Amino acid sequence: MLNHDVTQLLINGQRRASSDGGTRTITHPADGHEVATFAEATAADTTAAIEAARAAFDGGHWGSFTGEQRSKILSQVADILERDKEIFASAESEDTAKRIVEARYDIDDVISVFRHFATKANELHERDINVGRDGIRSTMVTEPIGIVAMITPWNYPLLQASWKIAPALATGCTFVIKPSELTPSTTSLLMNSLSEAGVPDGVANIVFGAGATAGGPLSVHPDVDMVSFTGGLATGKRVMANAAETVKRVALELGGKNPNIIFADADLDAAIDNALTAVFLHSGQVCSAGARLLVERSVHDRVVDEIARRADHIVLGGAYDDDAESGSLISAAHRDKVEAYVNAAVAEGATLRAGGVRPSGEQFTNGYFFRPTVLDNCTTDMTCVQDESFGPVLTVEVFDTEAEAIALGNDTIYGLAGAVWTTDDDKAQRVARKLRHGTIWINDYHPYVAQAEWGGYKQSGVGRELGDAGLAEYLEHKHIWHNLVPARSEWFRTMEGSN
Ligand code: NAD
Repeated sequence: MLNHDVTQLLINGQRRASSDGGTRTITHPADGHEVATFAEATAADTTAAIEAARAAFDGGHWGSFTGEQRSKILSQVADILERDKEIFASAESEDTAKRIVEARYDIDDVISVFRHFATKANELHERDINVGRDGIRSTMVTEPIGIVAMITPWNYPLLQASWKIAPALATGCTFVIKPSELTPSTTSLLMNSLSEAGVPDGVANIVFGAGATAGGPLSVHPDVDMVSFTGGLATGKRVMANAAETVKRVALELGGKNPNIIFADADLDAAIDNALTAVFLHSGQVCSAGARLLVERSVHDRVVDEIARRADHIVLGGAYDDDAESGSLISAAHRDKVEAYVNAAVAEGATLRAGGVRPSGEQFTNGYFFRPTVLDNCTTDMTCVQDESFGPVLTVEVFDTEAEAIALGNDTIYGLAGAVWTTDDDKAQRVARKLRHGTIWINDYHPYVAQAEWGGYKQSGVGRELGDAGLAEYLEHKHIWHNLVPARSEWFRTMEGSN
Protein backbone atom coordinates (compact mmCIF):
# COMPACT_ATOMS: atom_id res chain seq x y z
CA MET A 1 0.00 0.00 0.00
CA LEU A 2 1.32 3.44 -0.94
CA ASN A 3 1.90 6.12 1.70
CA HIS A 4 -0.79 8.79 1.67
CA ASP A 5 1.63 11.54 0.54
CA VAL A 6 2.51 9.65 -2.64
CA THR A 7 -1.13 9.83 -3.75
CA GLN A 8 -1.18 13.64 -3.50
CA LEU A 9 -0.14 16.15 -6.13
CA LEU A 10 3.40 17.51 -5.85
CA ILE A 11 3.62 21.23 -6.58
CA ASN A 12 6.65 23.30 -5.61
CA GLY A 13 7.88 20.63 -3.19
CA GLN A 14 4.56 20.36 -1.34
CA ARG A 15 2.28 17.35 -1.46
CA ARG A 16 -1.31 18.53 -1.60
CA ALA A 17 -4.88 17.50 -2.34
CA SER A 18 -6.64 18.62 -5.47
CA SER A 19 -8.10 22.15 -5.27
CA ASP A 20 -11.66 20.81 -5.54
CA GLY A 21 -11.00 17.74 -3.35
CA GLY A 22 -11.53 15.37 -6.27
CA THR A 23 -10.03 11.89 -6.19
CA ARG A 24 -9.77 8.80 -8.40
CA THR A 25 -9.44 5.23 -7.16
CA ILE A 26 -7.12 2.90 -9.07
CA THR A 27 -8.04 -0.79 -9.19
CA HIS A 28 -5.93 -3.82 -10.07
CA PRO A 29 -6.58 -4.90 -13.67
CA ALA A 30 -6.17 -8.62 -12.97
CA ASP A 31 -8.45 -9.03 -9.96
CA GLY A 32 -10.21 -5.70 -9.33
CA HIS A 33 -8.85 -5.00 -5.84
CA GLU A 34 -8.40 -1.39 -4.83
CA VAL A 35 -4.82 -0.19 -5.30
CA ALA A 36 -4.94 3.43 -4.11
CA THR A 37 -6.91 6.66 -4.29
CA PHE A 38 -5.13 9.58 -5.96
CA ALA A 39 -5.88 13.29 -5.94
CA GLU A 40 -7.48 14.21 -9.27
CA ALA A 41 -5.95 17.49 -10.47
CA THR A 42 -8.08 20.29 -11.83
CA ALA A 43 -6.83 22.50 -14.65
CA ALA A 44 -6.07 25.11 -11.95
CA ASP A 45 -3.83 22.63 -10.11
CA THR A 46 -1.92 21.86 -13.29
CA THR A 47 -1.54 25.57 -13.98
CA ALA A 48 -0.13 26.00 -10.45
CA ALA A 49 2.35 23.20 -11.13
CA ILE A 50 3.45 24.89 -14.38
CA GLU A 51 3.92 28.18 -12.53
CA ALA A 52 6.03 26.40 -9.88
CA ALA A 53 8.21 24.84 -12.59
CA ARG A 54 8.56 28.26 -14.27
CA ALA A 55 9.59 29.94 -11.01
CA ALA A 56 12.10 27.17 -10.24
CA PHE A 57 13.60 27.54 -13.70
CA ASP A 58 13.69 31.34 -13.83
CA GLY A 59 14.65 32.17 -10.28
CA GLY A 60 15.50 29.01 -8.38
CA HIS A 61 19.01 27.83 -7.55
CA TRP A 62 18.63 24.84 -9.94
CA GLY A 63 20.03 27.07 -12.68
CA SER A 64 23.30 27.42 -10.75
CA PHE A 65 23.91 23.65 -10.59
CA THR A 66 26.81 22.52 -12.76
CA GLY A 67 26.60 19.57 -15.12
CA GLU A 68 28.74 17.66 -12.65
CA GLN A 69 26.28 18.35 -9.82
CA ARG A 70 23.30 17.30 -11.96
CA SER A 71 25.21 14.18 -12.96
CA LYS A 72 25.76 13.28 -9.31
CA ILE A 73 22.06 13.72 -8.58
CA LEU A 74 21.07 11.43 -11.46
CA SER A 75 23.55 8.78 -10.28
CA GLN A 76 22.10 9.11 -6.80
CA VAL A 77 18.58 8.59 -8.22
CA ALA A 78 19.82 5.37 -9.86
CA ASP A 79 21.29 4.24 -6.51
CA ILE A 80 18.00 4.94 -4.72
CA LEU A 81 16.10 2.98 -7.37
CA GLU A 82 18.49 0.04 -6.87
CA ARG A 83 17.86 0.22 -3.14
CA ASP A 84 14.06 0.48 -3.54
CA LYS A 85 13.75 -1.77 -6.57
CA GLU A 86 11.26 -4.14 -4.99
CA ILE A 87 9.01 -1.27 -3.83
CA PHE A 88 8.97 0.17 -7.36
CA ALA A 89 8.50 -3.21 -9.05
CA SER A 90 5.57 -4.19 -6.87
CA ALA A 91 3.89 -0.76 -7.31
CA GLU A 92 4.35 -1.00 -11.09
CA SER A 93 2.90 -4.48 -11.10
CA GLU A 94 -0.10 -3.39 -8.97
CA ASP A 95 -1.03 -0.59 -11.39
CA THR A 96 -0.45 -2.43 -14.66
CA ALA A 97 -1.06 -6.12 -13.73
CA LYS A 98 2.38 -6.73 -15.18
CA ARG A 99 3.99 -9.94 -13.89
CA ILE A 100 6.37 -9.06 -11.10
CA VAL A 101 9.34 -10.52 -13.03
CA GLU A 102 8.58 -8.16 -15.92
CA ALA A 103 8.19 -5.21 -13.56
CA ARG A 104 11.64 -5.96 -12.12
CA TYR A 105 13.12 -5.92 -15.63
CA ASP A 106 11.45 -2.55 -16.19
CA ILE A 107 13.00 -1.05 -13.05
CA ASP A 108 16.43 -2.34 -14.13
CA ASP A 109 15.88 -0.52 -17.41
CA VAL A 110 14.87 2.67 -15.58
CA ILE A 111 18.07 2.48 -13.51
CA SER A 112 20.18 2.14 -16.67
CA VAL A 113 18.43 5.20 -18.17
CA PHE A 114 19.33 7.36 -15.14
CA ARG A 115 22.91 6.04 -15.17
CA HIS A 116 23.25 6.82 -18.88
CA PHE A 117 21.99 10.40 -18.61
CA ALA A 118 24.14 10.93 -15.50
CA THR A 119 27.16 10.55 -17.78
CA LYS A 120 25.61 12.86 -20.38
CA ALA A 121 25.02 15.73 -17.90
CA ASN A 122 28.82 15.86 -17.55
CA GLU A 123 29.39 16.15 -21.29
CA LEU A 124 27.43 19.33 -22.00
CA HIS A 125 30.35 21.56 -22.95
CA GLU A 126 30.62 24.82 -24.84
CA ARG A 127 32.12 24.64 -28.33
CA ASP A 128 34.44 27.29 -29.81
CA ILE A 129 34.04 27.98 -33.50
CA ASN A 130 36.88 29.17 -35.72
CA VAL A 131 35.18 31.85 -37.82
CA GLY A 132 38.34 32.66 -39.76
CA ARG A 133 38.59 36.26 -38.54
CA ASP A 134 40.95 37.82 -36.02
CA GLY A 135 39.48 39.33 -32.88
CA ILE A 136 36.28 37.26 -32.87
CA ARG A 137 35.39 34.82 -30.16
CA SER A 138 32.56 32.59 -31.39
CA THR A 139 31.03 30.12 -28.96
CA MET A 140 28.16 27.64 -29.17
CA VAL A 141 26.49 27.31 -25.81
CA THR A 142 23.87 24.69 -24.98
CA GLU A 143 21.15 25.64 -22.54
CA PRO A 144 18.14 23.80 -21.11
CA ILE A 145 15.00 24.46 -23.14
CA GLY A 146 13.14 25.45 -19.97
CA ILE A 147 9.86 24.06 -18.63
CA VAL A 148 8.91 20.66 -20.00
CA ALA A 149 5.39 19.24 -19.81
CA MET A 150 5.50 15.45 -19.84
CA ILE A 151 2.52 13.24 -20.57
CA THR A 152 2.95 9.47 -20.30
CA PRO A 153 0.95 6.27 -21.00
CA TRP A 154 0.05 3.23 -18.90
CA ASN A 155 1.96 0.38 -20.50
CA TYR A 156 5.49 1.18 -19.23
CA PRO A 157 4.68 3.97 -16.77
CA LEU A 158 8.01 4.50 -15.02
CA LEU A 159 10.16 3.60 -18.01
CA GLN A 160 8.40 6.10 -20.28
CA ALA A 161 8.65 8.73 -17.52
CA SER A 162 12.38 8.07 -17.06
CA TRP A 163 13.07 8.52 -20.80
CA LYS A 164 11.84 12.11 -20.33
CA ILE A 165 12.80 12.97 -16.75
CA ALA A 166 16.44 11.81 -16.88
CA PRO A 167 17.46 13.86 -19.97
CA ALA A 168 15.38 16.84 -18.79
CA LEU A 169 17.22 16.92 -15.46
CA ALA A 170 20.57 16.20 -17.13
CA THR A 171 20.20 19.38 -19.19
CA GLY A 172 18.85 21.53 -16.32
CA CYS A 173 15.16 21.75 -17.27
CA THR A 174 12.29 21.82 -14.80
CA PHE A 175 9.12 19.88 -15.46
CA VAL A 176 5.52 18.96 -14.73
CA ILE A 177 4.59 15.36 -15.42
CA LYS A 178 1.13 13.87 -15.77
CA PRO A 179 1.25 10.08 -15.79
CA SER A 180 -1.64 8.04 -17.15
CA GLU A 181 -4.66 8.25 -14.85
CA LEU A 182 -4.55 4.42 -14.74
CA THR A 183 -0.95 4.03 -13.56
CA PRO A 184 0.34 6.98 -11.50
CA SER A 185 2.02 5.14 -8.59
CA THR A 186 5.65 4.63 -9.62
CA THR A 187 6.06 8.06 -11.20
CA SER A 188 4.82 9.57 -7.96
CA LEU A 189 7.19 7.40 -5.92
CA LEU A 190 10.02 8.60 -8.16
CA MET A 191 9.30 12.23 -7.19
CA ASN A 192 10.30 11.33 -3.62
CA SER A 193 13.49 9.70 -4.89
CA LEU A 194 14.36 12.84 -6.88
CA SER A 195 13.88 14.95 -3.80
CA GLU A 196 15.98 12.56 -1.69
CA ALA A 197 18.74 12.75 -4.33
CA GLY A 198 18.83 16.55 -4.04
CA VAL A 199 16.53 17.87 -6.78
CA PRO A 200 15.33 21.25 -5.40
CA ASP A 201 11.66 22.02 -4.73
CA GLY A 202 9.70 23.15 -7.78
CA VAL A 203 12.00 21.47 -10.29
CA ALA A 204 9.93 18.25 -10.42
CA ASN A 205 6.15 18.56 -10.17
CA ILE A 206 3.47 15.92 -10.66
CA VAL A 207 -0.27 16.08 -11.29
CA PHE A 208 -2.65 13.16 -11.68
CA GLY A 209 -5.86 12.69 -13.56
CA ALA A 210 -7.76 12.72 -16.81
CA GLY A 211 -6.10 13.84 -20.01
CA ALA A 212 -8.42 16.66 -21.01
CA THR A 213 -8.65 18.35 -17.58
CA ALA A 214 -5.48 17.59 -15.61
CA GLY A 215 -3.50 17.33 -18.87
CA GLY A 216 -5.19 20.17 -20.76
CA PRO A 217 -3.01 23.14 -19.66
CA LEU A 218 0.20 21.21 -20.36
CA SER A 219 0.03 21.71 -24.12
CA VAL A 220 -1.51 25.21 -24.14
CA HIS A 221 0.00 27.17 -21.25
CA PRO A 222 2.37 29.86 -22.58
CA ASP A 223 4.92 29.18 -19.83
CA VAL A 224 5.55 25.65 -21.09
CA ASP A 225 8.49 25.55 -23.50
CA MET A 226 8.23 21.94 -24.62
CA VAL A 227 5.71 19.11 -24.52
CA SER A 228 7.04 15.57 -24.49
CA PHE A 229 4.18 13.15 -25.06
CA THR A 230 4.01 9.37 -25.25
CA GLY A 231 0.67 7.80 -26.07
CA GLY A 232 -1.81 7.14 -28.83
CA LEU A 233 -1.88 8.77 -32.26
CA ALA A 234 -5.19 10.61 -31.81
CA THR A 235 -4.08 12.19 -28.52
CA GLY A 236 -0.67 13.01 -29.95
CA LYS A 237 -2.23 14.92 -32.84
CA ARG A 238 -4.38 16.91 -30.39
CA VAL A 239 -1.36 17.75 -28.20
CA MET A 240 0.65 18.82 -31.26
CA ALA A 241 -2.17 21.06 -32.54
CA ASN A 242 -2.60 22.65 -29.10
CA ALA A 243 1.14 23.23 -28.76
CA ALA A 244 1.27 24.95 -32.16
CA GLU A 245 -0.69 27.87 -30.70
CA THR A 246 2.38 29.00 -28.70
CA VAL A 247 4.98 27.32 -30.95
CA LYS A 248 6.24 24.92 -28.30
CA ARG A 249 8.81 22.30 -29.10
CA VAL A 250 7.00 18.98 -29.37
CA ALA A 251 8.37 15.47 -28.93
CA LEU A 252 5.90 12.69 -29.69
CA GLU A 253 6.24 8.93 -29.19
CA LEU A 254 3.11 7.43 -30.67
CA GLY A 255 1.81 4.09 -31.84
CA GLY A 256 3.21 1.42 -34.11
CA LYS A 257 2.14 -1.45 -36.32
CA ASN A 258 5.42 -3.21 -36.52
CA PRO A 259 6.35 -5.76 -39.20
CA ASN A 260 8.18 -8.91 -38.11
CA ILE A 261 9.55 -10.41 -41.35
CA ILE A 262 10.52 -14.09 -41.50
CA PHE A 263 12.36 -15.26 -44.61
CA ALA A 264 12.42 -18.96 -45.53
CA ASP A 265 16.18 -19.16 -44.90
CA ALA A 266 15.85 -17.97 -41.26
CA ASP A 267 16.66 -20.05 -38.21
CA LEU A 268 12.97 -20.90 -37.96
CA ASP A 269 13.13 -22.28 -34.45
CA ALA A 270 14.49 -18.96 -33.11
CA ALA A 271 12.24 -16.92 -35.40
CA ILE A 272 9.07 -18.70 -34.23
CA ASP A 273 10.01 -18.49 -30.55
CA ASN A 274 10.80 -14.78 -30.81
CA ALA A 275 7.69 -14.09 -32.89
CA LEU A 276 5.69 -15.13 -29.81
CA THR A 277 7.66 -12.81 -27.53
CA ALA A 278 7.54 -10.04 -30.12
CA VAL A 279 3.76 -9.84 -30.04
CA PHE A 280 2.59 -11.39 -26.76
CA LEU A 281 5.03 -9.75 -24.28
CA HIS A 282 3.00 -7.73 -21.75
CA SER A 283 -0.17 -9.00 -23.52
CA GLY A 284 0.75 -7.08 -26.66
CA GLN A 285 0.50 -3.73 -24.86
CA VAL A 286 3.87 -2.64 -26.24
CA CYS A 287 4.24 0.17 -28.80
CA SER A 288 6.92 -1.80 -30.65
CA ALA A 289 5.08 -5.15 -30.50
CA GLY A 290 5.70 -7.36 -33.53
CA ALA A 291 1.96 -7.53 -34.19
CA ARG A 292 2.26 -7.91 -37.97
CA LEU A 293 3.92 -11.15 -39.08
CA LEU A 294 5.16 -11.21 -42.69
CA VAL A 295 6.24 -14.73 -43.60
CA GLU A 296 7.70 -16.11 -46.84
CA ARG A 297 5.09 -18.32 -48.52
CA SER A 298 7.17 -21.52 -48.62
CA VAL A 299 7.46 -21.65 -44.79
CA HIS A 300 4.08 -20.14 -43.94
CA ASP A 301 2.39 -23.37 -42.81
CA ARG A 302 5.29 -24.53 -40.66
CA VAL A 303 5.70 -21.12 -39.00
CA VAL A 304 2.06 -20.28 -38.44
CA ASP A 305 1.02 -23.80 -37.30
CA GLU A 306 3.71 -23.68 -34.63
CA ILE A 307 2.98 -20.10 -33.52
CA ALA A 308 -0.75 -20.89 -33.22
CA ARG A 309 -0.04 -24.13 -31.31
CA ARG A 310 2.24 -22.38 -28.85
CA ALA A 311 -0.09 -19.35 -28.48
CA ASP A 312 -2.80 -21.75 -27.34
CA HIS A 313 -0.49 -22.99 -24.57
CA ILE A 314 0.43 -19.59 -23.09
CA VAL A 315 -0.63 -19.60 -19.44
CA LEU A 316 -2.42 -16.47 -18.23
CA GLY A 317 -2.50 -15.45 -14.57
CA GLY A 318 -1.79 -12.95 -11.84
CA ALA A 319 1.41 -11.02 -11.23
CA TYR A 320 2.70 -13.37 -8.53
CA ASP A 321 1.43 -16.61 -10.11
CA ASP A 322 4.63 -18.61 -10.78
CA ASP A 323 3.01 -20.60 -13.60
CA ALA A 324 1.68 -17.57 -15.44
CA GLU A 325 3.48 -16.43 -18.58
CA SER A 326 1.28 -13.42 -19.31
CA GLY A 327 -1.13 -11.13 -17.45
CA SER A 328 -4.34 -9.24 -18.03
CA LEU A 329 -5.04 -6.19 -20.17
CA ILE A 330 -5.12 -2.77 -18.52
CA SER A 331 -8.88 -2.14 -18.36
CA ALA A 332 -12.31 -3.42 -19.30
CA ALA A 333 -12.57 -0.74 -22.00
CA HIS A 334 -9.27 -1.82 -23.52
CA ARG A 335 -10.19 -5.53 -23.41
CA ASP A 336 -13.50 -4.70 -25.16
CA LYS A 337 -11.61 -2.74 -27.81
CA VAL A 338 -9.24 -5.65 -28.49
CA GLU A 339 -12.15 -8.09 -28.63
CA ALA A 340 -14.04 -5.88 -31.11
CA TYR A 341 -10.88 -5.58 -33.22
CA VAL A 342 -10.59 -9.39 -33.45
CA ASN A 343 -14.28 -9.83 -34.31
CA ALA A 344 -14.00 -7.17 -37.02
CA ALA A 345 -10.90 -8.90 -38.42
CA VAL A 346 -12.75 -12.20 -38.73
CA ALA A 347 -15.68 -10.40 -40.37
CA GLU A 348 -13.15 -8.88 -42.78
CA GLY A 349 -11.95 -12.34 -43.83
CA ALA A 350 -9.09 -13.18 -41.44
CA THR A 351 -8.86 -16.80 -40.24
CA LEU A 352 -8.80 -17.24 -36.48
CA ARG A 353 -5.99 -19.72 -35.69
CA ALA A 354 -5.69 -19.21 -31.92
CA GLY A 355 -7.40 -17.30 -29.11
CA GLY A 356 -10.00 -14.69 -29.99
CA VAL A 357 -11.77 -15.23 -26.67
CA ARG A 358 -11.66 -14.36 -22.98
CA PRO A 359 -10.24 -17.24 -20.93
CA SER A 360 -12.66 -19.31 -18.88
CA GLY A 361 -12.03 -19.99 -15.19
CA GLU A 362 -12.97 -18.44 -11.88
CA GLN A 363 -9.53 -16.82 -11.46
CA PHE A 364 -10.21 -14.65 -14.52
CA THR A 365 -13.67 -13.33 -13.67
CA ASN A 366 -12.57 -10.09 -11.98
CA GLY A 367 -9.78 -9.31 -14.44
CA TYR A 368 -9.47 -8.13 -18.03
CA PHE A 369 -7.85 -11.18 -19.61
CA PHE A 370 -7.87 -12.03 -23.31
CA ARG A 371 -6.35 -15.14 -24.93
CA PRO A 372 -3.31 -14.68 -27.20
CA THR A 373 -4.78 -14.50 -30.69
CA VAL A 374 -3.46 -15.40 -34.14
CA LEU A 375 -5.25 -14.15 -37.27
CA ASP A 376 -4.09 -15.81 -40.49
CA ASN A 377 -4.83 -15.05 -44.18
CA CYS A 378 -4.66 -11.30 -43.66
CA THR A 379 -3.95 -8.80 -46.42
CA THR A 380 -2.47 -5.34 -46.24
CA ASP A 381 -5.76 -3.59 -47.06
CA MET A 382 -7.49 -5.02 -43.96
CA THR A 383 -8.19 -2.72 -41.03
CA CYS A 384 -6.75 -5.31 -38.63
CA VAL A 385 -3.40 -5.09 -40.46
CA GLN A 386 -3.32 -1.31 -40.55
CA ASP A 387 -4.71 -0.42 -37.10
CA GLU A 388 -2.90 -0.87 -33.81
CA SER A 389 -4.84 -3.28 -31.53
CA PHE A 390 -2.40 -2.77 -28.63
CA GLY A 391 -3.45 -6.21 -27.41
CA PRO A 392 -2.30 -9.84 -27.75
CA VAL A 393 -3.20 -10.12 -31.43
CA LEU A 394 -0.96 -11.25 -34.30
CA THR A 395 -1.95 -10.75 -37.95
CA VAL A 396 -0.25 -12.92 -40.59
CA GLU A 397 0.46 -12.06 -44.25
CA VAL A 398 2.57 -13.93 -46.82
CA PHE A 399 5.14 -12.64 -49.32
CA ASP A 400 7.11 -14.17 -52.18
CA THR A 401 10.08 -11.86 -52.77
CA GLU A 402 12.43 -9.59 -50.84
CA ALA A 403 10.99 -6.56 -52.61
CA GLU A 404 7.48 -7.57 -51.64
CA ALA A 405 8.51 -8.04 -48.00
CA ILE A 406 9.95 -4.52 -47.94
CA ALA A 407 6.92 -3.01 -49.64
CA LEU A 408 4.54 -4.70 -47.20
CA GLY A 409 6.71 -3.73 -44.23
CA ASN A 410 6.50 -0.09 -45.28
CA ASP A 411 2.81 -0.18 -46.14
CA THR A 412 1.66 1.48 -42.91
CA ILE A 413 1.15 4.99 -41.63
CA TYR A 414 3.40 4.05 -38.69
CA GLY A 415 7.18 3.64 -38.57
CA LEU A 416 8.26 2.68 -35.08
CA ALA A 417 10.00 -0.70 -35.24
CA GLY A 418 10.37 -3.95 -37.15
CA ALA A 419 12.46 -7.10 -37.43
CA VAL A 420 14.04 -9.25 -40.13
CA TRP A 421 14.80 -12.96 -39.74
CA THR A 422 17.25 -14.49 -42.22
CA THR A 423 20.63 -16.26 -42.21
CA ASP A 424 21.71 -14.14 -45.21
CA ASP A 425 23.49 -11.19 -43.57
CA ASP A 426 23.63 -9.12 -46.77
CA LYS A 427 19.90 -9.53 -47.31
CA ALA A 428 19.26 -8.67 -43.66
CA GLN A 429 21.21 -5.43 -43.95
CA ARG A 430 19.59 -4.55 -47.29
CA VAL A 431 16.09 -5.02 -45.92
CA ALA A 432 16.87 -3.26 -42.62
CA ARG A 433 18.06 -0.18 -44.50
CA LYS A 434 14.98 -0.04 -46.70
CA LEU A 435 12.40 -0.36 -43.94
CA ARG A 436 11.15 3.06 -42.83
CA HIS A 437 10.99 2.41 -39.07
CA GLY A 438 13.00 3.90 -36.20
CA THR A 439 14.35 0.59 -34.88
CA ILE A 440 15.10 -2.58 -36.87
CA TRP A 441 16.16 -5.80 -35.20
CA ILE A 442 17.93 -8.50 -37.22
CA ASN A 443 17.42 -12.01 -35.86
CA ASP A 444 16.18 -10.57 -32.57
CA TYR A 445 13.22 -8.68 -31.14
CA HIS A 446 12.69 -6.08 -28.39
CA PRO A 447 16.15 -5.26 -27.00
CA TYR A 448 17.03 -1.58 -26.71
CA VAL A 449 19.72 0.39 -24.90
CA ALA A 450 19.70 3.90 -23.45
CA GLN A 451 22.68 4.85 -25.67
CA ALA A 452 20.68 4.33 -28.89
CA GLU A 453 17.92 6.65 -30.08
CA TRP A 454 14.33 5.42 -29.93
CA GLY A 455 11.46 6.86 -31.92
CA GLY A 456 9.30 6.73 -34.97
CA TYR A 457 9.24 7.58 -38.64
CA LYS A 458 6.00 8.85 -40.17
CA GLN A 459 3.00 8.93 -37.80
CA SER A 460 4.83 7.04 -35.05
CA GLY A 461 6.16 10.31 -33.77
CA VAL A 462 8.29 13.40 -33.86
CA GLY A 463 11.82 13.50 -32.47
CA ARG A 464 13.70 10.87 -30.54
CA GLU A 465 14.09 9.66 -26.97
CA LEU A 466 17.31 8.18 -25.54
CA GLY A 467 20.72 8.46 -27.18
CA ASP A 468 22.31 11.79 -28.04
CA ALA A 469 19.26 12.98 -29.99
CA GLY A 470 17.09 12.19 -26.97
CA LEU A 471 19.25 14.56 -24.91
CA ALA A 472 19.31 17.23 -27.61
CA GLU A 473 15.49 17.44 -27.52
CA TYR A 474 15.84 19.21 -24.16
CA LEU A 475 18.50 21.71 -25.27
CA GLU A 476 18.54 25.10 -26.88
CA HIS A 477 21.64 26.03 -28.86
CA LYS A 478 22.88 29.59 -28.54
CA HIS A 479 25.60 31.20 -30.65
CA ILE A 480 27.54 33.93 -28.86
CA TRP A 481 29.54 36.14 -31.24
CA HIS A 482 32.01 38.26 -29.27
CA ASN A 483 33.91 40.95 -31.17
CA LEU A 484 37.02 41.57 -29.08
CA VAL A 485 38.09 44.59 -31.19
CA PRO A 486 34.92 46.58 -31.83
CA ALA A 487 35.05 48.90 -34.85
CA ARG A 488 32.68 50.82 -37.09
CA SER A 489 30.98 48.70 -39.73
CA GLU A 490 30.83 51.59 -42.22
CA TRP A 491 28.08 49.95 -44.20
CA PHE A 492 26.11 53.20 -44.53
CA ARG A 493 27.63 56.49 -45.62
CA THR A 494 26.02 58.48 -42.81
CA MET A 495 27.73 61.89 -42.47
CA GLU A 496 29.23 62.63 -39.08
CA GLY A 497 27.00 65.00 -37.11
CA SER A 498 24.05 64.86 -39.57
CA ASN A 499 20.56 63.73 -38.54
P1 NAD B 1 -3.48 7.85 -24.63
O1 NAD B 1 -3.14 8.66 -25.82
O2 NAD B 1 -4.88 7.47 -24.42
O3 NAD B 1 -3.00 8.56 -23.29
C1 NAD B 1 -1.64 8.94 -23.10
C2 NAD B 1 -1.59 10.05 -22.08
O4 NAD B 1 -2.20 11.21 -22.63
C3 NAD B 1 -2.34 9.75 -20.78
O5 NAD B 1 -1.60 10.27 -19.70
C4 NAD B 1 -3.63 10.54 -20.96
O6 NAD B 1 -4.25 10.91 -19.75
C5 NAD B 1 -3.10 11.76 -21.69
N1 NAD B 1 -4.09 12.56 -22.41
C6 NAD B 1 -5.23 12.15 -23.00
N2 NAD B 1 -5.87 13.21 -23.57
C7 NAD B 1 -5.10 14.30 -23.33
C8 NAD B 1 -5.21 15.69 -23.65
N3 NAD B 1 -6.24 16.18 -24.35
N4 NAD B 1 -4.23 16.53 -23.23
C9 NAD B 1 -3.17 16.07 -22.54
N5 NAD B 1 -3.03 14.76 -22.20
C10 NAD B 1 -3.97 13.89 -22.59
O7 NAD B 1 -2.54 6.54 -24.75
P2 NAD B 1 -2.52 5.28 -23.78
O8 NAD B 1 -3.73 4.46 -24.07
O9 NAD B 1 -2.22 5.69 -22.40
O10 NAD B 1 -1.20 4.51 -24.31
C11 NAD B 1 -1.22 3.63 -25.38
C12 NAD B 1 -0.61 4.26 -26.60
O11 NAD B 1 0.71 4.73 -26.32
C13 NAD B 1 -0.45 3.29 -27.74
O12 NAD B 1 -0.88 3.85 -28.95
C14 NAD B 1 1.05 3.03 -27.78
O13 NAD B 1 1.52 2.61 -29.03
C15 NAD B 1 1.61 4.34 -27.35
N6 NAD B 1 2.97 4.20 -26.82
C16 NAD B 1 4.03 4.59 -27.60
C17 NAD B 1 5.33 4.42 -27.14
C18 NAD B 1 6.52 4.83 -28.00
O14 NAD B 1 7.64 4.78 -27.50
N7 NAD B 1 6.33 5.21 -29.26
C19 NAD B 1 5.56 3.88 -25.88
C20 NAD B 1 4.46 3.49 -25.10
C21 NAD B 1 3.17 3.66 -25.59
